[in-house]
Amino acid sequence: MEFELWFLLVVPILFLAGWWCRGKDQQHRDKERQSRAYFKGVNLLLNDQPDKAIDALIEVVKLDPETIELHHALGNLFSRRGEFDRAVRIHNHLFNRADLPNSERLLALYELGYDYLKAGLFDRAEDSFTRLMNEPEYRLDAMRALLKIFCTEKEWFKAIEMAARLETEAGENHQVDVAHYYCELADASLRQKKLEEAKEFLKQALNSDRHSVRALIALGDIAMLEQDAESALNYWTRIEQVSPDHLTLVIARMAQAYEQSGQHEQAINIVQRAFSDHSGPEMLLLASDFIAKTEGPQAAQHLLKDALTNNPNLLAFELLAEMRLKERPDDMELQLLVKLLKPEVSRIGRYQCTHCGFQARSFQWSCPGCSSWGSYPPKRY
Ligand SMILES: [Zn+2]
Repeated sequence: MEFELWFLLVVPILFLAGWWCRGKDQQHRDKERQSRAYFKGVNLLLNDQPDKAIDALIEVVKLDPETIELHHALGNLFSRRGEFDRAVRIHNHLFNRADLPNSERLLALYELGYDYLKAGLFDRAEDSFTRLMNEPEYRLDAMRALLKIFCTEKEWFKAIEMAARLETEAGENHQVDVAHYYCELADASLRQKKLEEAKEFLKQALNSDRHSVRALIALGDIAMLEQDAESALNYWTRIEQVSPDHLTLVIARMAQAYEQSGQHEQAINIVQRAFSDHSGPEMLLLASDFIAKTEGPQAAQHLLKDALTNNPNLLAFELLAEMRLKERPDDMELQLLVKLLKPEVSRIGRYQCTHCGFQARSFQWSCPGCSSWGSYPPKRY
């Protein structure tokens, strides 16, 4: 009887001890697996193999959901690789975890905002950053991100307001950019033929940046629409004072305004003066085209020959060959020459962003590559 009682007591104790040891052993094995996967992930990252690293790091996260930093790192890796769905899932999960410290949840919200921004989900990105504006630590960064969103979404009034806030709170200068926002508003008004409204926006642009070449060009364009060549010329002449390099953008318009008001000599003079002041493909194209239209092809060929003598270049040679081909369309050698030169010439004469190097065939006020304002010099390369 005594033996049976002892037996009944020992069996459960042995069972519990076995279960405990098994648990400990399992924990130990998990820890080992976790560290192996972790070091494998880091090693793969160092070897620039993010795809394989992600698989290894996912295993660590599965084994230990408390590795918050690793969650952030993994989310950012997905985001950088363009896998926004997965990045959003991770950052959203962190943001919704009520047991995490507030600082971790706010960081996740900030990262979530950028996931949405990169994925082009601007409404959601705006929502995330608007919430972060109430957090002192993230306020300024959130405002900068919101300004970016408003510009992408072409919400110019909101962009103007946000730029003003950044000027007050962060001491940043956004005057030049704000002038561009007003010019964008003016462009929209012009598309709807609301000339007076466009003029008001352009005056605001000049209030923000009195050197705004873009506003002066547009005011001149509106004056031309109103058949007021004299006012147009006044606006465009001011460009020479504020930024002489940008004059090349309006020379053709100025020449046209002079022609329209019967001042042919001034038209020729301004083109020739600009041609001698600003060498380069832009003025070469413009001057040869203008002289061909107003003075005839012989005068244009004369100009191109002078250009070739003073500064031998492929563009002038190709333009000359093209003009000669128009006179002698059956000349097989000329046909072949133009055919050979055209592709070479098409590669030169592009505008280039000074911030990111993005090249564009036509002049841009805002870079399609990096969204910078006024980063294109008015010069073709
Ligand atoms: Zn750029």
